[in-house]
Amino acid sequence: MAQSEKIDWSRGASRELVKRWYSELGTAEESGEKVVYLFTSGSIAEFFRSFGFRVVLPEMNAIRWSMENLAVEMIHHGEALGYDPGICGYMKCDLGFADDLYSGTAPFGRIPPPDLLVVSSGGCSTYIKWFEALERKFECPLRIVDVPFVREDRLAEFDRNYIRRQLEELIPICEEISGRKFDIDRLREILQLSKQAIEYWMQILELGKKRPSPFDGFFEACYYMAPMTVWRGTEECVDYYRQTLEEIKTRSKQHTSPAGRERFRLLVDGAPPWPKIREFRSMFWYWGGVGVTASYPRVVCACDDLELTPEEPFEFLTDLAASSYLNWNLVKRRNFLEKLARDYSVDGIVIHSTRSCRPYSIGQLDLRNYFAREAGIPTLFVDSDVADPRYFSSAQIMNRTDTFFEALGRKKPSAI
Ligand code: SF4
Repeated sequence: MAQSEKIDWSRGASRELVKRWYSELGTAEESGEKVVYLFTSGSIAEFFRSFGFRVVLPEMNAIRWSMENLAVEMIHHGEALGYDPGICGYMKCDLGFADDLYSGTAPFGRIPPPDLLVVSSGGCSTYIKWFEALERKFECPLRIVDVPFVREDRLAEFDRNYIRRQLEELIPICEEISGRKFDIDRLREILQLSKQAIEYWMQILELGKKRPSPFDGFFEACYYMAPMTVWRGTEECVDYYRQTLEEIKTRSKQHTSPAGRERFRLLVDGAPPWPKIREFRSMFWYWGGVGVTASYPRVVCACDDLELTPEEPFEFLTDLAASSYLNWNLVKRRNFLEKLARDYSVDGIVIHSTRSCRPYSIGQLDLRNYFAREAGIPTLFVDSDVADPRYFSSAQIMNRTDTFFEALGRKKPSAI
């Protein structure tokens, strides 16, 4: 097996944790556990865990459909329900599934129906329409936590207060549905675990600064971030990131990486084309192009410059709710990407624009123009989709990536 095809421990363990998560969801109805549906960007799952809720993440389900190349059927069904082809593929996929297409059982597990729907809108307005549709379908309570955009460099104090108050207002409905009293010490314990896992995760991402990078901070980080998405606030999550950090440090000492030989160091902006991720990855690894850093691992929580405070749970949750990369203004995103490009000594930037994810793709052409023309960093712009393989044009994307790497090779002949 070629080195680039090896599945390392971290990747396999991430897959097992996701499997276990689905298997536990599958028994929720039988065991009478209460279920809340949430979103991943700016997730505040810890709050609901403290009441004993099982957490379902419809975006995560859509990613599973997409990775297994099964999303198209759901998307078609979603479009037949009247959702426009131009809107989010994840949403159409999930609403297609929720329309009893598989009676609640996906190939990767049984998805229990919700007792409560909570939208924390961090960066994506599609979320609200999506959950309103699920509210009509499942006829259960819906609560919306309105998370303002980070308009300046940091979240304004009045916006913090606004989010914090809305979180506190969730307590009565959670108590009523879960049948448990709110326990602030339990929440502190869970958040302490989240803090530990996030700190390990940040240390892992930092290792992309090594030369060569011991992992691909985009193509592998996409898999490594799954436990952060579904298990944050648990011992399992902390263990996973502690061991992953150890593994990647060992690789760093041995100068090895599943990405193979590093010729070009890249910063990647955008979400992966899940149905075609392997094909897309091979177009980069073939040339020795390694994503040493990326914005996507900051979509669930962008905690690079946050001081996390489990002892002040509502402050911590407010930070989590607002800290998704997608909830930042464009200038903050640009400054952040430029800092990453500098700190990780990249040779070029890759922008993958995803047609149906507006919160990510809006402004990416401006970013491309800025980096290529003003900052003088070679920048590749390609587009497809997060869920819908019909938008992935292999020939066109390969043509552009080959041209990009040939140009990079001329600038850096030592890499060839
Ligand atoms: S539009 Fe983007 S952020 Fe919003 S649900 Fe779809 S993929 Fe997620």
